[in-house]
Amino acid sequence: MLDPKLMDEPARMAALERYEVLDTPGEASFDRITDLVRSILDVPISAVSLVDADRQWFKSIAGLDARQTARDIAFCAHTISQRGPMVVTDAREDARFRDNPLVTGDPNIRSYAGIPLETPDGYNIGSLCAIDTVPRQFNPGQIAILQSLAALVVEQLELRRIAERDHLTGALTRRAFLGEMNRAIALFERHQRPASLLLFDIDHFKRINDSHGHPVGDQVIHGIARLCTGLRRPSDSLGRLGGEEFGILLPETCREDAARAAQRFCEAIAATEISGAPPLRATASFGVAELRADWPTSESWLAVADMALYEAKRSGRNRIAVARHDASHAA
Ligand code: GH3
Ligand code: MG
Ligand code: MG
Repeated sequence: MLDPKLMDEPARMAALERYEVLDTPGEASFDRITDLVRSILDVPISAVSLVDADRQWFKSIAGLDARQTARDIAFCAHTISQRGPMVVTDAREDARFRDNPLVTGDPNIRSYAGIPLETPDGYNIGSLCAIDTVPRQFNPGQIAILQSLAALVVEQLELRRIAERDHLTGALTRRAFLGEMNRAIALFERHQRPASLLLFDIDHFKRINDSHGHPVGDQVIHGIARLCTGLRRPSDSLGRLGGEEFGILLPETCREDAARAAQRFCEAIAATEISGAPPLRATASFGVAELRADWPTSESWLAVADMALYEAKRSGRNRIAVARHDASHAA
């Protein structure tokens, strides 16, 4: 039977990209699953393979030292073209795999069982697989366990996504944004790479809620986040840090350039009519802080930007304030 979602490669790729998982560091929850596959199915190799446009990339792989292979030689690229498990009991007897370099050479795959990683909306983004270097059968109990573990992989990916993206705006959650800040801090400490933080809070937002109701307030939050997403550079991260408070992290950006960027964001927000019923205008106040060794943690860096933001509010709103280099975050 023809299954359109199995034929729709652009939609499958979009489903994979939504997880923002390719080329991310290893994570214990996925490694636990591949370790379980190895011990329960008694195979030397197991992988969580995500099938990208022209490669398979392993979010986790146990028993083999590889991060990716070309897609055209990947067993898992076959698994994703079907709904159920794909089992190969002897690769040398299978015309699809007989001449595959992973069979004729290292790691000498002989048998394989893979379960498609199916997203809740029905796209196969990869597979959870068990691999052996000798021909073998997989019994129905083992396949059933592999299926449960594959479902667990997808659940982990879903949870990861929910924890990192704010539902209303699509911006990073506070937790994920702090993770980005910590990465910038590590680059600063190791390689002296600069970074700046813009913190902004919508002005008199309570009035918008009070006059037009909470759902319209939500539209304003959504509209401003969308505007900022459109204005930022691809390397900049936008995070929703609280109700109507956002952060924009600018890697490789010094204080002066960050101030100019903040001014641009601030003016764009004030100039934009946010669509909705009724269309509204809002302004926001910005605090700008370049990362310095004097505020070496995400908390202290945020605190310095927050003081600058408070200064922008105090001096009239709809403006930016830049933290001085001798600011004290302990104040
Ligand atoms: P200021 O210019 O000093 O920032 O004034 P403000 O009125 O914006 O003050 P404050 O930041 O203290 O108030 C924020 C309000 O935002 C309070 C809260 O009810 C509302 N709020 C927080 N989260 C949400 C949300 O998700 N949706 C909506 N509609 N309102 C929210
Ligand atoms: Mg506010
Ligand atoms: Mg606020």
